[in-house]
Amino acid sequence: SAQGRCVCVTGSTHGIGYAMAEAFARAGARLVINSHLPDNGALEKLSALTECHFIQADLSTVEGARGLVAEAAGRLGCLDTLVNNAGTFRDVDFEDLESENFERTFDLNVRGYLFASQAFVKALGPDQDNPSIICVGSTNSLAAEKNSVIYDTSKGAVLMMIRSMAVTLARRGVRVNGIGPGIVETPLTRKGLDSGDTRRILKAQIPMGRIGEPDDIGEAAVFLASSGARYITGQMLYIDGGILAN
Ligand code: NAD
Repeated sequence: SAQGRCVCVTGSTHGIGYAMAEAFARAGARLVINSHLPDNGALEKLSALTECHFIQADLSTVEGARGLVAEAAGRLGCLDTLVNNAGTFRDVDFEDLESENFERTFDLNVRGYLFASQAFVKALGPDQDNPSIICVGSTNSLAAEKNSVIYDTSKGAVLMMIRSMAVTLARRGVRVNGIGPGIVETPLTRKGLDSGDTRRILKAQIPMGRIGEPDDIGEAAVFLASSGARYITGQMLYIDGGILAN
């Protein structure tokens, strides 16, 4: 259960972030959701389940990342769980890569996670119960994909950020863990899945034989934030239908 917990999920108007926010809402948490764009109806849907606030902020800027978390703590009057999820993916051929591609991905996928996490630690009250940070990595944190050098490198950085923050923050009572999705159908991946024969080819590579859905991911976030996970820190839980086991 997440009854009465105060949770902020970044990048949560669509896809995996929305599914995690909804799982927290069903488990009784109070929520702040976020996007750099308008809320797309997510606020209304989640408000039917729990107290929910939407804060528009661009997590690819340091001020956006810090500001979101500080404002979330203010609106809820507490903050015990931060889920770093807002991430981007861009497929560019190796020889066409430009500094701009690198910056766009790293500013959001890596720097955004770091400064949101820093702001979370700064906003923590002295006796916050079981505070934790969850970072969404990927199976690409471990296994590379062709033509995905920048994204793969950013997700590898997320894996090490989880471990490094876990070690750094353990004595302050803050746990840091990750969720590593495999292939999940969301607005981010739908176009790619629908191009040519991609969907069929990918399905054949997944031991469980189906593409993941955002709802396959949500409950894991609730667990990692819960008292049942109180001795778990520095870990990434891969949710991939068996891809990495293959
Ligand atoms: P998505 O594009 O469907 O949703 C991303 C959310 O983040 C949206 O709500 C979007 O509005 C928001 N967002 C985008 N840029 C932002 C910014 N600059 N500031 C604030 N919010 C922003 O993506 P998704 O597929 O749900 O991916 C979520 C996370 O999961 C990402 O970190 C992604 O790398 C990771 N992931 C996804 C898959 C997959 O197959 N879909 C697999 C592995 C990892």
